[in-house]
Amino acid sequence: MPIILKDSLISLGFESLKSSSFIRIMESMLKLLKVPISMAIFCPCDTGKLYEDCCQNLHNGAFPENALALMRSRYSAYALQLAAYIIRTTHLKNPHYDQDHRRWTREILCFCQNTIFHKLEILDFIDGEDEAYVTFDAHLIQDKQPLDLIEKSHFEKVNRQWLYRDACHITHS
Ligand SMILES: [Zn+2]
Repeated sequence: MPIILKDSLISLGFESLKSSSFIRIMESMLKLLKVPISMAIFCPCDTGKLYEDCCQNLHNGAFPENALALMRSRYSAYALQLAAYIIRTTHLKNPHYDQDHRRWTREILCFCQNTIFHKLEILDFIDGEDEAYVTFDAHLIQDKQPLDLIEKSHFEKVNRQWLYRDACHITHS
């Protein structure tokens, strides 16, 4: 019996995953196939947790406990094409912050739709009271070519909420 694994969902583009009705349909289907649900709906941020136990609450409005959780939730938001979440968790002083949210949304969705978010590795996390840094390696696929994006991200806490401030270093390979 074929097993629907995370990679299969990635190849579907994750677009439909943001719909809870889609998840319910998937769950019913997996029950029929006797496939453990936990194998199918892992969070894209690679914690190994189910999406509903991981980034879903943050995407629905909960505050992340720290900058690392925010970073992971932004990665999974990209994978799930949740442009509004990317926008509302970006600091106003980020150099790429675009006041024209419609245009920015289109750009984010264009990037998401042309990218497979294959794997996320956290390389370093420096926590702080109001500032924090996360270095990560995002394994992406664009135009069928693997792309490693290594970034040291800078986060700032504003009104008790962590926001993505900017990137200190970025390397592509
Ligand atoms: Zn997650």
